[in-house]
This record gives sequence, C-alpha cells and structure tokens, in this order.
Amino acid sequence: MSATTPRDPYEVLGVPRDAAEQDVKKAFRRLARELHPDVNAHDPDAEEKFKEAAEAYEILSDPERRATYDRYGHEGLRSGGYAPNFDGFGSIGDLFNAFFGSGGSFGGSSGSALGGDIAVAVEMTLVEASKGSEVEVSFEAIDHCEHCHGNGAEPGTPIERCSRCNGAGQIQSVVRTPFGQMMRTGLCDACHGDGRLPSVPCEECGGRGQKTVKRSEQVSVPAGIDDGQRIRVSGRGHAGERGAAPGDLYLLVRVRPDERFFREGDDLITALDVSAPLASLGVTLEVPTLDGPAAVDVPSGTQPGDLLMVRGQGMPSLRSGRRGDLRVVVNVVVPRRLTDEQRELLGRLNEMLTDDNLRSEESVFSKLRRMLRHQAA
Ligand SMILES: [Zn+2]
Ligand SMILES: [Zn+2]
Repeated sequence: MSATTPRDPYEVLGVPRDAAEQDVKKAFRRLARELHPDVNAHDPDAEEKFKEAAEAYEILSDPERRATYDRYGHEGLRSGGYAPNFDGFGSIGDLFNAFFGSGGSFGGSSGSALGGDIAVAVEMTLVEASKGSEVEVSFEAIDHCEHCHGNGAEPGTPIERCSRCNGAGQIQSVVRTPFGQMMRTGLCDACHGDGRLPSVPCEECGGRGQKTVKRSEQVSVPAGIDDGQRIRVSGRGHAGERGAAPGDLYLLVRVRPDERFFREGDDLITALDVSAPLASLGVTLEVPTLDGPAAVDVPSGTQPGDLLMVRGQGMPSLRSGRRGDLRVVVNVVVPRRLTDEQRELLGRLNEMLTDDNLRSEESVFSKLRRMLRHQAA
C-alpha cells in the first residue's frame, strides 16, 4: 500500500457504496481477524493489508469523512488535513490488542516475551559445502544475567510486590483507536508483567535480569548444503524474559561460486575443451572434480556439446548423502590461426574425408535441441 495511491476504501473492505455503518464495521472486523499475524504468519503483507483496512475503516466509519470521500475522493481527505491516527501504537500487535483486547483470542502475549531469533551468515567454498563442516559462529545475544540468576535483584536483597500494578503485572490505560477511545490492558511498565520488583536492582544488569553477551556456537553444516539455505539451531537465540522460551539461532549459508563448476541440484557441470583432431581420434583427458583431477575418456568421434558423465562426483544429497554426478560438456575447439603446413594438411584431410566420415545418425532437430540445452545450462 502506498501513501500516494490509496485504494478505494469501499473496495478494500469489500462493501457496497451504500453499506450501512454496521456492515462496514462487520466487514472490517472480519478482515482484521483474517489478517491477524497469529493467523496469517505466512503472509508478509498482512500488516500492510491490515493497516490499509484500518485506514479504510477510519474513513467509512466517520460520516463526515465518508461524505468527503464520496464527493472528492482521497484528495478531499488529504486537503482537509486528515491523516490516519495510528501513531500512538508501537506495533501491529498493539493495534490488534486495541481492537480485540489483550485477553481475548487475538490478544497476543500478555505474559513474558519469548526470546528473539538471531541470524548469522557463514560463507564457505563449494568443496567445504560438499564435505560438510563444523563452523564456529560468534554473535551478540541477550542472555540471563549470571549475577542475579535472571531475577534482577542484587543477591541477598528481597524482591517485593510491584507498587505500580499492585502485583497484577498489568495496568489498564485509555487509548485512541479508529473506534474511538478504548480501555486497553497492557503489561505494567514498571515490572514488565512480573508483578514483582527487586528492592535493590542487580548491579550487573540494572534489574533487567538480562544482559548482552558475546557468544560462540559450534554448528555443524551438513554435506551438500546449497547457497542460501538456512540451518536452524533451536533455542540458541536470545534468552526469553523471565523463563519464557529462548529464540532460535539461524545460520544463513553462503556458498561461494566455484569457477570450475556450475551446480544443478546435486549434479555439477563443467566444460572440457577438446581439440577437433582429438575429439575425432578419441583421447583420455583430465577433468577437475571436487576430490581433485580425474581422468575421463573422450571417445573417438565425440561431437561438440556431447555429455560425458563422471558418476558420483557431484554434490552429496542433503537427504540421502548419495552423491550426484559430474556432467562434462565437451567443447570442441576448432583450430585457428593456421600455419601454411597445417592449412595444407587440413586441406588434404578434407579431400580424403568421405560421406561416411561426416554422416550423423542424429536429426537436425535433435542436434539443435542438444546444443540449446547445453547453452541454457
Ligand atoms: Zn542481574
Ligand atoms: Zn508492576
């Protein structure tokens, strides 16, 4: 949704232009529930769509704004100084809580917050990716404070009932919403929902019970990992608040391109230059593999684009561990910049060639298809 080209609010809410106020409200509530992040975690646009729906609702639920929109469109609303009033909300979760109440089915978490996830990128070569490796990653993470064991109190000092919320952990406040003023129940900002507060805050963490630490983690990267894949290490992210579950650690694997190989699934593809005379005569040549050079037989009469397979020299499958193949695409190199002697020899050879030497069993169509397939690869 762009601020410069807002959609028609009737269209956004899916109501006719003469819809009654209750129908507008009903349509918005239905949409808001559908777009709730808990329900709709898979849709990255849910938050934007929800805001769009809320803005549409703000216009259509206010008779004056609705009349202005009906006559002048969005332009009329803008010149009237109208702006959506979502500024009081810290997050989409707050916005939902304001509509549905934090204790309800769409209330989100009213207790301690789960720990956040951490993402770390690691880079490796294709050879390392083929063998798998143990990598050590270092990152900053929120951890429990060891000094106070996470309870936020200086050791030996008592923890008392929070005076701000009277031990409830929650306080009620009045918030402005597109529905008008509403009571909202939120976490107590003094004790953050715990209901208790240390009388003397921990000197190490200032009473938060958490602190940022430098952490190292050993992660095993399985053989066959591909560029852009993520490895999840459960529970190794940021610590949660007051015993809530920690987040996860995600390792984003970057596999550096290897100029010798092109990867296609578990197969590797490489190109092999073979001179035209050798392609005709047949020869054994060396090709690079992940385990070092290997010999490959180029049979007599090999044509440009022919495929030679080196079995088991691809990448290991992440699932089965079975290795793919190395596909060697033959690039027949036709000699250039000939000397007089070479030119004479080739001329004589050409005169001696018969139809039988040059005839191919392959159709033109099949040949073209083969060449184009390799080109695409
Ligand atoms: Zn502490
Ligand atoms: Zn409190």
